[in-house]
Amino acid sequence: MSAPALNPLATEIAAMIAQDGPMSVERYMGLCLSHPVHGYYMTRDPLGADGDFVTSPEISQMFGELLGLWSAETWRLIGAAQPARLVELGPGRGTLMADALRAARAAPDFFAQLTVTMVETSPTLQARQQRMLENAERTVNWADAVEQIPPGAAIILANEFFDALPARHYVKTPEGWRERQVGFADGRFVFGAAPEIEKYLTVEAETGAVLEVGAIGQRIMTTLAARIVAQGGALLVVDYGHAQTVLGETLQAMRDHAYVDPLESPGEADLTTHIDFAGLGRAAKAAGARVHGPVTQGYFLRQIGIVQRAQALMRNATPEQRAEIERSLVRLISEENETDMGRLFKVMAVTQRSVEALPGFIEEPTV
Ligand code: SAH
Repeated sequence: MSAPALNPLATEIAAMIAQDGPMSVERYMGLCLSHPVHGYYMTRDPLGADGDFVTSPEISQMFGELLGLWSAETWRLIGAAQPARLVELGPGRGTLMADALRAARAAPDFFAQLTVTMVETSPTLQARQQRMLENAERTVNWADAVEQIPPGAAIILANEFFDALPARHYVKTPEGWRERQVGFADGRFVFGAAPEIEKYLTVEAETGAVLEVGAIGQRIMTTLAARIVAQGGALLVVDYGHAQTVLGETLQAMRDHAYVDPLESPGEADLTTHIDFAGLGRAAKAAGARVHGPVTQGYFLRQIGIVQRAQALMRNATPEQRAEIERSLVRLISEENETDMGRLFKVMAVTQRSVEALPGFIEEPTV
């Protein structure tokens, strides 16, 4: 079989490998997603039916509306700081924030005080978000990194943000754990292992096992949790992943709503990994914060009133619209199968230790 033709990013990565040797999976994933010219998020709007994947806010306006109401309620609960600062990490098309702001008008004390910060690295998506929020009637600022969020108590929302950050892989060999790398041989990218042994990694596993570590996400979590401990606020993380730390890799590439090989056509497919909520929770606790959840997305959305919201929308809807509301409700909250969004997606929040209960995370009494 002859090697496939290389796209411009593949040519560049192959040249880097020829010069410096194989690179870490983390570096490879970072280049595919965020290379300034050819990176996946830098060049396109990947969301929606005609994009590569669909997210909850793109499925239904109810998702962003409920997160807006959750933000208002949480803001009051933790002391109604002035100004009310609402932040979103990786806001995609800006749909979630537009829906959240519309719903937040129902909480005039919150809305009147509100200023918004969008944390987004992609210029293409920043422009898209600016258009989406043109009529928001609130001050909206953009930042490229969490360190640039203005100081003060902030309600920070992150839907499908942590899964889009590069992760490291380690592979178990008979001599010990080695970092997994991407090399280039016979015209293609191939996985390999670094020559050095990672002596501090002592997890027991069989030869060939892969350990995935979201080090960049953990660092961001540490920064945000420390900020919340010092200045107040709350972080809400919604993402797909597992509640417990597990072995095995979850790196996946998605293009046109189908899975493809992550080593083929770098920069042209969305690369993600499942989130290790336990690892993120440990990072937040180590910074002195309280962790709420994770609970399933289905549980969280039900508890903050998605069913009632759907019923209210249906009252003024045509039969076709009603069917559509019903369909998107089921899609967001169903927990029947393991791959249903209501179950695969989990929700976790981080606050100061003094905040004991948050809407969406209150345990239902068992009878
Ligand atoms: N939250 C949106 C989009 C999810 S896609 C939704 O639910 O529809 C991931 C988003 O994170 C994109 O907007 C992408 O450009 C952004 N992103 C990826 N890496 C980032 C980083 N390091 N800092 C800020 N934003 C980032």
